[in-house]
Amino acid sequence: MIEIINLSKSYGSKQVLSNINIRFDSGKIYGIVGENGAGKTTLFRCLAELEVYDGRIQSDEQNLKGKLGFLTSEPYYLPKITGEEHIYLLTDARKVKVDNLTERNIFQLPLKEYVSNYSTGMKKKLAITAVLLQKNEYFIFDEPFNGIDLESSIIFSAILKKLKDLGKTVIISSHIFSTLKDSCDYIYKIEEGTLSPPFAKESFDELEDEMRQKILMKDIGKIL
Ligand code: ADP
Repeated sequence: MIEIINLSKSYGSKQVLSNINIRFDSGKIYGIVGENGAGKTTLFRCLAELEVYDGRIQSDEQNLKGKLGFLTSEPYYLPKITGEEHIYLLTDARKVKVDNLTERNIFQLPLKEYVSNYSTGMKKKLAITAVLLQKNEYFIFDEPFNGIDLESSIIFSAILKKLKDLGKTVIISSHIFSTLKDSCDYIYKIEEGTLSPPFAKESFDELEDEMRQKILMKDIGKIL
């Protein structure tokens, strides 16, 4: 369980998150949907304790940071490092020993090659693989479906379901509602740093419809 209580975050005079209250239980998958700039990444950075914020984040885990896997939206790689070395660096940092990496290379990445030769999608899949191999209890995936092919997104969705069955806590963000629909138990909408109440599976269609209507109210004719 992770609970966020009255969390607000500003950059200078700009308020980016306003009074967020949310609880994430184990064995559930949560989605956060919102436009670019709505505050998803900032919320995740606060959860990973990479930002200073007002409010509280509590968990029944003594060492949340050490059990939290964070897929950032733009993962960072050292230059001149192979895929395999990247994975070992991240897993060693958590004191996790990875056996049979070849068999566990679920996205079939060329692990002996330099990451600098990877495509954007391959880099993302490498980052997902490393986060999964770290044996975390809590997972935050910032835009995980962005840039990966259909086959990989099907594999990743199946992995999410497996994590849920194993009782892990999973939080995913996306700016595209449809990518969250299948996997999530609850979806929250974030708009200008404010979080909606949770939408449960039976209200996903209603939420999607509402979001589509709102977007189409914008005067798209102006560009033509
Ligand atoms: P999202 O992930 O939903 O696209 P972000 O959390 O990245 O949104 O950004 C939310 C808002 O915070 C945006 O207006 C963005 O410009 C602003 N922001 C994010 N990081 C910084 C920063 N380091 N300094 C100033 N403003 C920032």
